[in-house]
Amino acid sequence: MQDFVTKYGLPYRATPFWLSLADEDPKTCARNADGVPIDPILAQVLPSPAEARISPLELRDPLGEAGNTIFERAVRHYRSRILVRATGQCFLFCRHCYRRSLLSSERHFLDGATIEALSKYLTTHPEIREVLVSGGDPLTATDAQLAALLETIRSVRQPILIRICTRAPIVLPARITPALVDLLKRFRPLTVVLHINHPKELSTQFLEKAEALLGAGIPLHSQTVLLRGINDRPEILTELFSTLNLRGIHPYYLFQGDLAVGTAHFRVPLSRGLAIYEVLRRDLSGLELPRYAVDAPGGGGKIYLPEGIAGQKADSWLLLASDGSIHEYPEEE
Ligand code: SF4
Repeated sequence: MQDFVTKYGLPYRATPFWLSLADEDPKTCARNADGVPIDPILAQVLPSPAEARISPLELRDPLGEAGNTIFERAVRHYRSRILVRATGQCFLFCRHCYRRSLLSSERHFLDGATIEALSKYLTTHPEIREVLVSGGDPLTATDAQLAALLETIRSVRQPILIRICTRAPIVLPARITPALVDLLKRFRPLTVVLHINHPKELSTQFLEKAEALLGAGIPLHSQTVLLRGINDRPEILTELFSTLNLRGIHPYYLFQGDLAVGTAHFRVPLSRGLAIYEVLRRDLSGLELPRYAVDAPGGGGKIYLPEGIAGQKADSWLLLASDGSIHEYPEEE
């Protein structure tokens, strides 16, 4: 396991708050036959021997970000938006993370030269309407670092939407201070997308912080990764999405697992994901139902499911990306 951690750069990290959401002690928790914790909170952060099993189709860069890099840490998959990896730091390291191979090499926050490059790029590309500030978790940065980045984006032109992608309100609610809420409010139009996978993550503390953000006029959206043994049952996802919706958080995406190295044990077979989504589609209202999607393996952007299915082979699916390219996604056991 240590070899794997060294090679793929994802050590163990979790906040005490996150661990307090679990029903079991991380040191003595029950594990399944693959060595993965049964508890859905612990399963997301405790390393397991299953990570060392690497499937031949898995990629270090499953979304093809390297091929779509426009300058250091900035990726452009779509005409109207770009994504900036602000930092490789996270409050906790999710074992299913598709950027797991990148995080260790990008630990520091964006430096001045990269922020300058971002400013120049936005100035010369008026067609960009949205900047996704991702990572890692951008809220691991100090308020001053964040303010410098957001100020740069906002000073290029007002109508750009800033999208902050974070798990902070869930894994470390104390990070959402009144000062941070004010700071984010200052840079509206700004929206926050929360990575949230299980109803157990909806703590009282999180819900209070979500309310503070919403009260400041900051829209909240969720994205959820379909994870084997964690949330791959319609009743779990129904509870998650309906509660989020009631709390004013828009269920935005349900993602089929990416082909990230060492994450096969988390991936739900696509056939089962489609069956789960069919149940959700029947049971949830339009406001509660997120879009089911997969990132095209190797690049090509998001593919909506089931619409993007172009065919099926014996042990894989053929998926049609919006640029017309066809991508193969395995049907795993
Ligand atoms: S918080 Fe996000 S970037 Fe960090 S490990 Fe989890 S999924 Fe990856």
